[in-house]
Amino acid sequence: MTTNEKSDFIREIIDEDLKTNKFEGRVHTRFPPEPNGYLHIGHAKSIRLNYEIAKDYQGKFNLRFDDTNPEKEEQEYVDSIIEDVKWLGGDFEDRLFYASDYFEQMYEFAVALIKKGKAYVCDLSADEIRSTRGTLTEPGTESPYRNRIVEENLILFEQMRKGNIPDGTKTLRAKIDMASPNINLRDPIMYRIVHEGHHRQGDKWCVYPTYDWAHGIEDSIEGITHSICTLEFENHRPLYDWYINELGIYHPQQIEFARLNITYTMLSKRRLLQLVQEHHVSGWDDPRMPTIVGFRRRGYTAESIKMFCDKIGVSKKDSIIDVAMLEWSIREDLNKNAQRAMAVLNPVKVIITNYPENKVEELPAVNNPEDESAGTRIVPFGRELFIEQDDFREVPPPKYYRLSPGTEVRLRYAYIIKCAKVIKDAQGNIIEIHCIYDPETKSGLPTANRKVKATIHWVSAHDAVNAEVRLYDRLFIKEDPDEVEEGKDFLSNLNPNSLQVLTHCKVEPMLGAAAPGDRFQFERVGYFCTDAKDSKPGAPVFNRIVTLKDTWAKIVQQGKK
Ligand code: ATP
Ligand code: MG
Repeated sequence: MTTNEKSDFIREIIDEDLKTNKFEGRVHTRFPPEPNGYLHIGHAKSIRLNYEIAKDYQGKFNLRFDDTNPEKEEQEYVDSIIEDVKWLGGDFEDRLFYASDYFEQMYEFAVALIKKGKAYVCDLSADEIRSTRGTLTEPGTESPYRNRIVEENLILFEQMRKGNIPDGTKTLRAKIDMASPNINLRDPIMYRIVHEGHHRQGDKWCVYPTYDWAHGIEDSIEGITHSICTLEFENHRPLYDWYINELGIYHPQQIEFARLNITYTMLSKRRLLQLVQEHHVSGWDDPRMPTIVGFRRRGYTAESIKMFCDKIGVSKKDSIIDVAMLEWSIREDLNKNAQRAMAVLNPVKVIITNYPENKVEELPAVNNPEDESAGTRIVPFGRELFIEQDDFREVPPPKYYRLSPGTEVRLRYAYIIKCAKVIKDAQGNIIEIHCIYDPETKSGLPTANRKVKATIHWVSAHDAVNAEVRLYDRLFIKEDPDEVEEGKDFLSNLNPNSLQVLTHCKVEPMLGAAAPGDRFQFERVGYFCTDAKDSKPGAPVFNRIVTLKDTWAKIVQQGKK
């Protein structure tokens, strides 16, 4: 039975079906990607929805590739999709299926429809079929080939299969109703001729089924009960039902929900492919991409994506989710779970002139204030340090409480220092800040509670590791990347500052040994993840996952007022 805290219109339909015993008490869902690109966060929503429903109703969940179009599909995509579905916790057990494995069955079903007089071979070109389809207000025109006799259709369809007929010259169409108010029912195409190798079937086939013809058969063969898809298929449902009814086979229920849209984000495989092919990003796994591989490389956790998907829920009405909500989800997760570290992104040197030359102290630093069991680590402290350029102002603006000549700040986990002198080069750039420290203020000492207005992070110059840090920002500058001036396309909305690379960062020693994919909160700076591709031991590269600032919490707060 359903877990009662979850409720949405799909679960209501399922509850009703269970009451009426529509599917003999079974619940069986599937995720049916076409392997023509990498999965994005919209797919994650669909995976979570289908998987969670199956789990909550003690049902089953299939992964099925809808690999019916050899022109756009590749094994690379199949492999990545399997990995991503598993990463998102969509456990399909041993139920991994391929629509192409049903091609023979689909062909036989098509023959059965021809024999029933419900399908015919049509010689019109794709353009002619389109132009005779009619409009929303006018009926279509019947094809001159519509009344071919069954025997001729059978012979021609077999020749199509055998490869004797060139691409684009014939199709198999369902014979439904050219005057139907639903354009999808105006003799839709069931098969096209495509002489192209298939990533699993090789050259075995040169007729390929269309989505509408194939999908219901796939669902039926697998015993799917609730075939959940996005809203744009709502007016395809009568066709889904027509095919299944005409074939007289087991009949799953198609249910449509609103697809996920997110502000500042493009969720279309075709567009994402364009970004990759035209090198606007470094690949499908570019950390700015809304793909699952991109999110993973950026440092998002599967938990945070699941939390996001569960939180936004499902609805029957299209809407746009604020990207800040996704960022909130990852902060929630990382605030609890990410190890803290000190990293200086834009370093300037501090010399503590009253600290002994070769002395090194090992100071304990808290690994995670949210999780006592994470314990502490040792950070080395010495006479020469790096701090952020931003944490010093020679002439402090009003309300600037960090370091400036004559003022004091606390160094996190260490001492209070006071700026005594600023050293500049010939061009007037600050190259060193000379400070004095107060030994009585060492963190942990009873004398350490003297109040100062700011605490800043630092790393020991002698022990710091050089690092590259990649600061990512939103890929698009507009909330709706499709909102463009006339004559321009979505590419004109790409954010020119979506990536900033800092190559002279100084990080604490522990970070030099960070493993690929390790996540950290750089104190006061943000959440970061070791880049899985480019990071090397001793020469780490970090991706910014998200800043510390929580705009979503602010939005929620304002909403409450
Ligand atoms: P795109 O429009 O990006 O090309 P698609 O729908 O063509 O995506 P499929 O591989 O057919 O890609 O999608 C597999 C499943 O994922 C489908 O059931 C589809 O409904 C669902 N899906 C795709 N995009 C979204 C989205 N933005 N939100 C929710 N579900 C989605
Ligand atoms: Mg699709």
